[in-house]
Amino acid sequence: MTSVKIPPAPEPLPVEVFDSHCHLDIMVGERAGPSAGPRTVAEIVREAQAVGVRRLVTIGYDVDSSRWCARAAEEHPDVYAGVAIHPNEAHRASEEALREIERLANLPRVRAVGETGLDYFRDTASRADQLASFRAHIGIAKRSGKALVIHDRDAHDDVLRVLAEEGPPERVVFHCFSGDEKMADACAEAGYFMSFAGTVTYKNAENLRAAALVAPSELILVETDAPYLPPVPHRGKPNAPYLIPLTVRFLAEVKGVPVEELCTAIARNGERVFGSFG
Ligand SMILES: [Zn+2]
Ligand SMILES: [Zn+2]
Repeated sequence: MTSVKIPPAPEPLPVEVFDSHCHLDIMVGERAGPSAGPRTVAEIVREAQAVGVRRLVTIGYDVDSSRWCARAAEEHPDVYAGVAIHPNEAHRASEEALREIERLANLPRVRAVGETGLDYFRDTASRADQLASFRAHIGIAKRSGKALVIHDRDAHDDVLRVLAEEGPPERVVFHCFSGDEKMADACAEAGYFMSFAGTVTYKNAENLRAAALVAPSELILVETDAPYLPPVPHRGKPNAPYLIPLTVRFLAEVKGVPVEELCTAIARNGERVFGSFG
């Protein structure tokens, strides 16, 4: 019998931060697997708060999951939501589906339109469908005044180009930032936020560490993308928001700044991007 051990709780952070991108519906659903730890949203939130991860943004990837995220945000005081149709699902971004995403985007506890963007690594949706869906989501973010959360996989140039062509919304986040130093400079220049995930701790991620080094603290966010991408040393195990401290401490070391200072910046950036949490 195979059983996956749940990673232990890391040392708590000195200042409360938040997880800018996770998938609570997948974590509590059937896809989470039998050994994925806490199985209710309340448990996941409690476990995160015990180590200084006060709030989470749960991110939708299709109409059903976006509805689920919007409801979870209404039911739990420290949970906020993003709503969108993922680029891998872009062939399902019908007019009707996009209308529903826009309706959800206008709810007060929904603070982001995402994840949307371009994924040239997986080809489950055609590039034409992805581009059309991405453009439509940029429009929704601008009309609703919510942050745009971008999934960019092997598509940096096209993502930047489409944003420039459409005119970016006020707040743009590159989730699971995967660019190099040059890309980080381009994002900083445009005022786009870079959300670092556990991937920055991976051995072969020299590019990402170079990017983190030049990314200005006032544009940095952190995320788990849980249940995916657990930080080192827990690769291969289920990820959850309570593991954020590992990524934050690692980032602080890369940037050569005190953990407390980075946490304070992340907390402030979070309110700037997702609105007041009060
Ligand atoms: Zn993504
Ligand atoms: Zn995601």
